[in-house]
Amino acid sequence: MTCRSMLAALLPIPLLFGSVSIPAQPPAAATAIVGATVFDATGAAPRRATVLIEGDRIMAVGDVPVPAGARVIDARGKALLPGFVDVHTHWTPNSQPDALPAIATAYVRAGVTTVSDFHEQPESFAPRREWLAGIVAPHVLFAARVSTPGGHGADWGDQATTIWINTPARARAAIDRLRPYRPDLIKAFTDGWRYGTGPDNSSMDEATLRALVAASHAAGLKVITHTVTVDRGVIAARAGVDGLGHGLQDRPMDASSLATIVAARMAMAPTLAVYDPDKGGRVRDAADPRYRNSVRKFGVALANVKAMFDAGVPIGLGTDAGMAATPHGEATLHEFELLVRAGLTPAEALIAGTATSARILGLDGDRGTITPGKRADLVLVDGQPWNRIADVRRIDRVIIDGRLVVGAGAPPLPAGNFSDRLPSVAVGAAIDDFQRADERTSLDTLRLETADGGIDRSVQITQIVPRDGGRALQLTARLALKRDAYAGVAFPLTRGSVRPATLARYKAVRFASKGVGTIVVTLNGADGRWRAQVRGTGRWSTHRVAFASLRPVASGTGQARDWTGSAIYQVEIGAHGSPGGSISLELDDLRFEPGPSGR
Ligand SMILES: [Zn+2]
Repeated sequence: MTCRSMLAALLPIPLLFGSVSIPAQPPAAATAIVGATVFDATGAAPRRATVLIEGDRIMAVGDVPVPAGARVIDARGKALLPGFVDVHTHWTPNSQPDALPAIATAYVRAGVTTVSDFHEQPESFAPRREWLAGIVAPHVLFAARVSTPGGHGADWGDQATTIWINTPARARAAIDRLRPYRPDLIKAFTDGWRYGTGPDNSSMDEATLRALVAASHAAGLKVITHTVTVDRGVIAARAGVDGLGHGLQDRPMDASSLATIVAARMAMAPTLAVYDPDKGGRVRDAADPRYRNSVRKFGVALANVKAMFDAGVPIGLGTDAGMAATPHGEATLHEFELLVRAGLTPAEALIAGTATSARILGLDGDRGTITPGKRADLVLVDGQPWNRIADVRRIDRVIIDGRLVVGAGAPPLPAGNFSDRLPSVAVGAAIDDFQRADERTSLDTLRLETADGGIDRSVQITQIVPRDGGRALQLTARLALKRDAYAGVAFPLTRGSVRPATLARYKAVRFASKGVGTIVVTLNGADGRWRAQVRGTGRWSTHRVAFASLRPVASGTGQARDWTGSAIYQVEIGAHGSPGGSISLELDDLRFEPGPSGR
């Protein structure tokens, strides 16, 4: 077999996996949505029309006959809209993927059929795509994250999650490194201005941003930036950024800045939902200076949306959902209302959250309007949302890729939509011997640096060093000036820490190490974290951590559970040190010890 034909023989397997796990509708020749008032998001007035769907495509819109044998959806009295698009969401943090099905379910029930996820490490893109294919979910675009050293977005996670760049050469190298992961777009945290809560010592300079945009565009990728100030918005426009992923809120837009942004044809998704001072129905103290400040900035953000919209800046819909009090699905629907509060008409807000957002993501050839040839991602609602925007909340039915997935006549959502994890897999005993030239673990996963986060964070370097003719991992760190400063390395048991592993066949973790002081061994799992400590001697020695000796790590939420050995994502090894102190540790021959788990 040639290489190519072997690939062809292998490829259908994950696709088949996806198609068998979704309950298929009876194969109809076509679906006809009859009687709805169609808001097609092209700017045309809403009108009564029949919409014909074949496969995943819209075939016809208008006064067309219903083909014999077509499945008919009686939509009399309802409004038909393109599926909603949210260009800025944050799904689940790395190694805590459990909420993925619940988030997917929340979006489809809210009529949101395309989102981009700005939160994930590239290693997790492929397993997440496979997981999403097996449940009912919106289309999820994965953004690769780029920031500056110490910058916003780099204040948690390591460079396996967010690549740090501060020169044009680094920008180009970042895109080269990301290409194999097939990101859908680039999210660049260019704005070190932390909403006034921290110093701006980490903004991305214009030359670096321009190089990032050029390299991204050469790779066919759009660039959306975290930008929250007018001046940074102007820099993004000059650098060729495709869209701002936030609103501009530090001061009212001026004519010269606006002209630059308009001339650059840069779009904006203002994420008003995350900045709404009254979000989540919280009762706030009107005299609280922080609340007053957020009210003032929100007022500026609203006014700038209107000023930019009126000047011709494409305004899309993004929410920052996943941030505090900004729930998935609900926030998207609230953003429509906030765009209207900013001064858009309800019809303009609907276009922002459909056609314009699809355009920002480079998907306007495929979706975003109800026109023949476009993807059949559709939402039926009760009411007239082009007159009363709150009617977007009155979801009746949702269609994704031509399949009815929510509402009367839809099959029940598959069990996978209500399960918070994938089935655990068995993994090999050898975790990492640091011998691979590609710097991946023996389990073919990418090591993660797990230093503490924050604005002052510990600076950690992990690198492969020689040891007795072989190789070992060296971890050195200069610790942050804070209590509980920490540096460590996590070894994912599966790629991207998305699929959990069972350790039922094992009874201990063993490893060799050289380093002085207390070494902390943590197992990170879906049901909690478990930890034990060993003493380093300063000479190479072998440590054994019996699973029976692991103790649950208390977390803010939920009851700590005894060790079960099931649903584990990572083994992590690290150390705490004194504020401003240092850590030096070498590791080798990390493996599980076979045997019954003990309890
Ligand atoms: Zn965000």
